[in-house]
Amino acid sequence: MYDVAIIGAGINGCSLAYELMRANKKVLLLDMEGIASGGSGAAGAFISPKFSKAGELKELLHDAYLYSFEFYKNNFPHIFKVVPLVHIAQDEADDATLRSYKQTTTLPLQEAPQECLDSLTSQARQREKVCLEAGVVDARRMCIALSKGSEFRKHKVKSLVYDDGMWVIDELYSALDVVLATGAYESLIKEPYIKLRGIWGHRIDIQSSTSNSCSLHQEVSISPSENGVLAIGATHNVHYHPQKSSKPYDVEAGRAELLQKATKTICLKDVKVFKDYMGLRSGSFDYIPIIGPLIDSTQTLECCEKKVKIKKPNYDDFVSYPNLYMINGNGGYGFVLAPYLAKILAKHILADAKIPQGLQCARFFARWAKRET
Ligand SMILES: Cc1cc2nc3c(=O)[nH]c(=O)nc-3n(C[C@H](O)[C@H](O)[C@H](O)COP(=O)(O)OP(=O)(O)OC[C@H]3O[C@@H](n4cnc5c(N)ncnc54)[C@H](O)[C@@H]3O)c2cc1C
Repeated sequence: MYDVAIIGAGINGCSLAYELMRANKKVLLLDMEGIASGGSGAAGAFISPKFSKAGELKELLHDAYLYSFEFYKNNFPHIFKVVPLVHIAQDEADDATLRSYKQTTTLPLQEAPQECLDSLTSQARQREKVCLEAGVVDARRMCIALSKGSEFRKHKVKSLVYDDGMWVIDELYSALDVVLATGAYESLIKEPYIKLRGIWGHRIDIQSSTSNSCSLHQEVSISPSENGVLAIGATHNVHYHPQKSSKPYDVEAGRAELLQKATKTICLKDVKVFKDYMGLRSGSFDYIPIIGPLIDSTQTLECCEKKVKIKKPNYDDFVSYPNLYMINGNGGYGFVLAPYLAKILAKHILADAKIPQGLQCARFFARWAKRET
């Protein structure tokens, strides 16, 4: 029997496995395809804050960026590269947002290095820019490194049954606690208030004689070059979904779109695309990630419907599934958020530490119960 079984070996599942193993927990990590086989394996995995106006998500990403940057740098320096990031406005409205960001941020900003500016198109040079110290993670290697020490099994989980104080998984494995880190895939526990959207992303590795020493973010993200190789990626494709679309994804069209957008930012010469990575990233409907105990809607409504439907319900009144948690909905910032969220969730699982209300699954249950029941 395991202390904790984590279902899903993307950056969320692997970051949580790392935290729990640090507390000497026996961790089982299950994934139907392999480590970093979902959205995480496709990510460019840039570690940056959100360059936007004030808001809950921006504040969260600010804290997560500061935490995760140090986490990767201190614990995994061999698979984390510290590089300047130049974020370039896409249009005039974005120019104004970046100007205001520069005036209000507490992060130390830098001048964009001249060699980065030299490789930009004249259009990109004229736009407002923010430059700061950021990082790039080697996505797949990071997930593997974080999961080291857990017992990994390639297995598609179909059923979860709570019996006699433990979770039985497909009648094969048992664990005291289970964490669902299943990204944009079909949920194992059907709860009407949990809704996630999957946004398709595509990243390409290209060979090019253009050298680039910074991470460049405008319509797409462009990595620094290493031995003539650059990565270009984006998770912008809202029209394609592997389970819902009638036609297969058009890889050639996706490549052409990424290159066309990248060449608005940087002058790329002698381009040869040699590798594609694709995957779904999952986002919540308020854009904030979801972590913590999974609320059992049937049980909660049966026991305390009145307490649920008041203006500001106390989430502690809700009934959770026993020892069942989730971590999901990181949107386009999975690698920025995962170490930070995993720390919060691990403290909750290990020592019952409070999870901020705005991150809890309970917020979606409370909204759903008021609206739909
Ligand atoms: C092209 C692209 C570029 C991106 N760039 C960045 C970036 O620069 N910076 C950044 O921070 N983020 C980036 N992201 C977003 C980031 O990749 C995601 O937020 C992150 O990968 C989400 O991780 P996850 O662990 O929640 O999900 P996933 O990585 O999708 O992992 C979920 C796993 O669960 C497994 N699974 C699901 N159901 C089951 C089941 N029943 N049984 C067993 N296994 C199951 C799947 O096989 C999968 O491996 C990018 C995403 C894409 C696609």
